[in-house]
Amino acid sequence: MTDLFAHRVAVLATMHRKEQAIAPRLEARLGVTVAVPPSFDTDGFGTFTGEIKRPADQLTTARLKAEAALESTGETLAIASEGSFGPHPQLPFVACDREIVLLIDRQHQLEIVGECLSADTNYRQQVVGSWAEAEAFAAAVGFPSHGLIVRADDAVIAKGITTAEELETAVARAMQQSTRSTARLETDMRALYNPTRMGAIAQATEHLLQAIAQTCPACGTPGFSEVKRWPGLPCGLCGTPTLLTRLVRHQCQRCQFHQDLPAPESPSVADPGHCPRCNP
Ligand SMILES: [Zn+2]
Ligand SMILES: [Zn+2]
Repeated sequence: MTDLFAHRVAVLATMHRKEQAIAPRLEARLGVTVAVPPSFDTDGFGTFTGEIKRPADQLTTARLKAEAALESTGETLAIASEGSFGPHPQLPFVACDREIVLLIDRQHQLEIVGECLSADTNYRQQVVGSWAEAEAFAAAVGFPSHGLIVRADDAVIAKGITTAEELETAVARAMQQSTRSTARLETDMRALYNPTRMGAIAQATEHLLQAIAQTCPACGTPGFSEVKRWPGLPCGLCGTPTLLTRLVRHQCQRCQFHQDLPAPESPSVADPGHCPRCNP
């Protein structure tokens, strides 16, 4: 399966040193050479600090980045990565980082996605009114190995802050400029300022490699991956269909062969706790 990609150049659309997490893995396992186009400006696709809004959802944004890298280099294989931060979908008070790493192969008409949903993130913001509060926030989010952003109200005073001196200067300036004499502190989520996020990008890259390794049983094309799920796993006590996944469809991108199988992570029947009849 690596034959499809071996000895090819994979352009990586990034300017935040994500190649540190992505390139060694792809080069070792796919036999590609990862190249970052010089002066590729991904900030045009949206920034975490909000100066530029994202044009679309996470996957679409990654696609746009990959396509721009293909256009600017004339290559046929591209990688793009995109992160988003917010409340965990199942645990409302836990912050989480959802990372995707996308591979687009124009030569073979393939698009394969790797994903990582991680609650291991320092993503956080706080408004502070004193240097002591700022120091406490910084200590809690892993500063200085993790960078910070300081704002006066909405205006960015400094970002990519990684020393106590820079932080002190920025906080003092923000408190001076702010109409409320406060500074707003945020974790800088750009990969090069956030080793924890870099780790999540590495995990998403591993997942991408797993997805590539799943080949179509009919034609051998990589990326034989999940396209759809059906609920209805029967209750273990009374057999009533529950909302848990009953079947997962995997489909080939080239020959349209598909397979409907039980979800690998699901038991064969649902716990009665999930049953609308046993536990309404
Ligand atoms: Zn196939
Ligand atoms: Zn039941």
